[in-house]
Amino acid sequence: MPPLIKHSRHESDEIEAIHDVSKDQNESTDAEQQEFKPQIVWRNVAIMVTLHSAAAYGLYLSFTSAMIKTTMLAYFMYMLGGLGITAGAHRLWSHKTYKAKWPLRMMLMIFNSSAFENDIYEWSRDHRVHHKYSETNADPHNALRGFFFAHVGWLLTKKHPDVKNKGKNLDCSDILADPIVRFQRRYYLPLVFTFCYVVPTLIPYYLFGETLKNSFFICSILRYVVLLNATWLVNSAAHMFGNRPYDQTINPSENRFVSWWAIGEGFHNYHHTFPWDYATSEFGIKLNFTTMFIDLMAKIGWAYDRKVVSKEVIRLRKLRTGDGSYGHDHHHEEVPHPDDVDADDEHRHNE
Ligand SMILES: [Zn+2]
Ligand SMILES: [Zn+2]
Repeated sequence: MPPLIKHSRHESDEIEAIHDVSKDQNESTDAEQQEFKPQIVWRNVAIMVTLHSAAAYGLYLSFTSAMIKTTMLAYFMYMLGGLGITAGAHRLWSHKTYKAKWPLRMMLMIFNSSAFENDIYEWSRDHRVHHKYSETNADPHNALRGFFFAHVGWLLTKKHPDVKNKGKNLDCSDILADPIVRFQRRYYLPLVFTFCYVVPTLIPYYLFGETLKNSFFICSILRYVVLLNATWLVNSAAHMFGNRPYDQTINPSENRFVSWWAIGEGFHNYHHTFPWDYATSEFGIKLNFTTMFIDLMAKIGWAYDRKVVSKEVIRLRKLRTGDGSYGHDHHHEEVPHPDDVDADDEHRHNE
């Protein structure tokens, strides 16, 4: 089993330095900022190279020796892990775009553990810092430092001092107020061990007799590495390539390729313009599996208070700051949101 990567709070200082924006209380000075030189954390580089090599082997096995069912199951589990990030850490806990009853929060916490991208609290705190200080040195994955840095480089180097210094002023206590978040944080490593490595390996083994080797390299490692890269694409590609119909003054852009892989998180110009919208898009469920899932959860009553931006607000914003690439409002006629009831209702309540 490969080492549990980069995410443990109990590991070396270097690992902590990467992920913890709040512990270092030192103020950064101008001189310190000018002197800043990225410092590579070789341990994390070694872990990432190992993981990606193992994933490449998993891909090879999926074409040469594994059952097709195994690869399909890996894809399904990838979608669930993705929901733990998109519907969970991102839209629910970071942005509070909707509310969820405890069975849904519990389910999302388990999915989130299978994605092993730091616990919900750390992920959400990093993400709030990203929104508040986008494209500055305080942004953990500042896309102005290039595609590679925004994609994975930020996890392979020590944090810029601004990330810590500015990030520590953000209040994230509301995230920790959820006992399910506190539970996950407390038992994070056993949860990751179970849901990222053990369960994905045992399911195909017991369900239809796949070999343990194929199960492990495809359903655990390959699934995990593809999901990591899908998430990172939102920080790299969707901060560089695509159009900017809502706000052309910011870097985040609309990128369909990213939307596909990140199950709906590629409408990134919209999301940075209207971060409180639960759909992260004005097109509802189109190319947006996460919105589909939240809508389904709303149908059974586990999700409620889904916030949306009114069409009029979107239209005016496009006129004011957009790059004109979506026209004015023709998309509204093309792809109406199935649940849209009242265009003037800024915060729709579905219960
Ligand atoms: Zn966000
Ligand atoms: Zn972003």
